[in-house]
Amino acid sequence: MYNIYRPYSYELLPEFEMSDEYDQEILDDREFYEYEYEGKAPVAPPMPSSINLYDTDLNAPCFAGNFNFMFDANTNKATATFNTDLSFKSAAIDKGKVFARLQEAANYWTNAAALEIKDKNGNYSRRIDLGFQVKTVANPKYANKRTSVHPDGSKAILLMQKDREVVSLEMHIFASSSPLVIAHELGHVWGLKDEYKDSGKIGWVTMKVSPCHVGTRSPLLNDTNALMNGGNEFRTRYFKHFGRAILNAFWRMPNHIIPVIRNGQVIGKTIQGRIRLLKKTVTGGAHNTFGPLNPQFDIIQVAKR
Ligand SMILES: [Zn+2]
Repeated sequence: MYNIYRPYSYELLPEFEMSDEYDQEILDDREFYEYEYEGKAPVAPPMPSSINLYDTDLNAPCFAGNFNFMFDANTNKATATFNTDLSFKSAAIDKGKVFARLQEAANYWTNAAALEIKDKNGNYSRRIDLGFQVKTVANPKYANKRTSVHPDGSKAILLMQKDREVVSLEMHIFASSSPLVIAHELGHVWGLKDEYKDSGKIGWVTMKVSPCHVGTRSPLLNDTNALMNGGNEFRTRYFKHFGRAILNAFWRMPNHIIPVIRNGQVIGKTIQGRIRLLKKTVTGGAHNTFGPLNPQFDIIQVAKR
């Protein structure tokens, strides 16, 4: 199912939904009409493709990612949605509070960064907002993952297991898990790896073998303020897979296609962009100190031969 761009937007009841081919026919008719009317060939403005994906991880670093992803070319907004069915492990848990914290954690992610897309002239002339949301669903069939909410008393036992292992099947939180902790767990739902230094023998082995940990040699282990480490700050690297997926929607846009030239010959084409960091910490604030592990921008691109 694709949302194709329609110059005259309209809504149809689901039973009257048309196939893309049929839609294209209508556009063709309209163009023909304009051609007759104005006496010149119409130039339809090129539009990026829209994206509507279910149960995707957008080729994220960690396989545990699972969410739905939508990019609306008409509004320049992309949204990652985590649909989850909540499983409360105790009747005493305050469901309203847990739900509110899940929403707050998703809000932290929203507009923490944006994608800026380069044009042929070298300007980052198009900006795409990145939104994130958690939606609760009653039917597990429509869930990306289940969220199990454990009573606080069981915390000690559950912490024996590493969250990165259990989040691959379900997201586990506790009755009093803070929005910050949930925001880190959501990072795994978006397909991001743990970056923290684990201690002890078991911790070292886990770092070494877990596909959802950056590993024992990664410089990211030292970036301790980062959210997927033990901190509360966003990093451009958390948004690169979202950005690349959106860049791939721009192959119809001549203004954004940048040729790769070698020895005077075009050998390929690229669409280039960058992730711009907007929020410093989960609760906002402007970034003022940047470094190699915490750049203001991260250049990304997609290429075709
Ligand atoms: Zn983690």
